[in-house]
Amino acid sequence: MTRALTRRRFLATASAAGAGLTFGAGPLVAAGDEKPALLGGRPARKGPFPSWPVFDETEEQALLKVVRSGKWFRGYGNHVARFEAAYAERMGAKHCVATASGTTALYTALTALGVQAGDEVILPPYTFVACVNVIMGLNALPVFVDTDPETFQVDASKIEPAVTDRTAAIMPVHLGGNVADLDAILAVAARRNLPVVEDTCQSHLAEWKGRKAGTHGSAGCFSFQASKNLNAGEGGAVLTASDEVGNECYAVHNHGRGRAGATGSGYARQGLNFRMTEFQAAMLLAQMTRIEEQACRREQNAQYLSGMLREIPGIQPARMYEGCTRNAYHLYMFRYDNEAFAGLARGAFLKALSAEGVSASGGYSPLNKAPFVRETLRSRGFQRLFSKERLDLWAERNQCPANDRLCTQAVWMTQNVLLADRTEMERIAEAVRKIQKHAADLARA
Ligand SMILES: *Cc1c(COP(=O)(O)O)cnc(C)c1O
Repeated sequence: MTRALTRRRFLATASAAGAGLTFGAGPLVAAGDEKPALLGGRPARKGPFPSWPVFDETEEQALLKVVRSGKWFRGYGNHVARFEAAYAERMGAKHCVATASGTTALYTALTALGVQAGDEVILPPYTFVACVNVIMGLNALPVFVDTDPETFQVDASKIEPAVTDRTAAIMPVHLGGNVADLDAILAVAARRNLPVVEDTCQSHLAEWKGRKAGTHGSAGCFSFQASKNLNAGEGGAVLTASDEVGNECYAVHNHGRGRAGATGSGYARQGLNFRMTEFQAAMLLAQMTRIEEQACRREQNAQYLSGMLREIPGIQPARMYEGCTRNAYHLYMFRYDNEAFAGLARGAFLKALSAEGVSASGGYSPLNKAPFVRETLRSRGFQRLFSKERLDLWAERNQCPANDRLCTQAVWMTQNVLLADRTEMERIAEAVRKIQKHAADLARA
């Protein structure tokens, strides 16, 4: 932070003197010297950010080995079992069940924990669409609890008032690599005797009080889809400390058939096929050799960037709760207050940022207001499962004003941006300062 401050003063001085300056790997443009790229100036940075995924011969050889073995199914090969053991150990969990995706991991965990048609499941509205689809796919009612805009995570203080006699699970999401307030969530769950399914699809290696996110609740679900920080194209996993939940998850993901020895060879329960392939597991074992170094790099760059962005009026990087001892930075998220930018709309800010060579997005729209959610609740099946009174009350209570506002202010950059050189973080901050300086002109343009 001292470094950021010093650098700011340095830039201000250099800018006042009208000096061109060089810093780090290439020329940097000081705020004020140059017009925004959108108004004809030189962009703050050029070229793409590091590409994703990262791979070499390690992945190629691993995949080739599986192809040549002819053992492509977990029942024939051992890669999936090896990945499960390695992932459980890396995360500090007792059991791991690998699945086809993060979506099927969530479906498996909720099913194993007893969520059924007619139940209610609590979730945040600031999350990926899969969360609500899994709940509604189980014919349960998704009950949205508002967001804490400071952290972008669920507002844990609002969970307990949302619990009813039909609540069957609480599903917090550790969004963007950050960690939801697990102490508060686990306390409500204990008071109300409810299972907690941690959606950790965006927070591999994140920690709460020194223990990995995804190992605090009844189950933790992960995604290895192409955009995620651990990537096999598609894939997922459920972690749990409970033998019983672990065995149930295994059976749910394997046509209802339990682990050899656990339930015999018969069909112990109703289940589906959500199994991971040997190809995915081989890729994951190879990619796992890279995740610690990548996580460190993202963390260092994010902290450096936050130090600089926090100095800019109207920019508020997502805060972490005190218990969050490691942020996995799947996304770099901040709030943009256009009042500090001469009223420049967020969309125009994103456009100006993109012209500076910094691609960013506005993130999620309010999931609780998505028309397909209402449509689903109006369907014949839901009308049979839930009384009119309950659905009317749901509609009346389905208000998340803090989340609505956050959805208008959020700005995201994807994790690969944080894999760039440290000097690129300076250029990103420079781009934002430049836009702020010329915000009035940009707003008129
Ligand atoms: C990606 C993601 C999922 C779904 O994972 P898939 O592997 O794409 O099915 C669920 N929840 C969150 C928060 C995610 O980011």
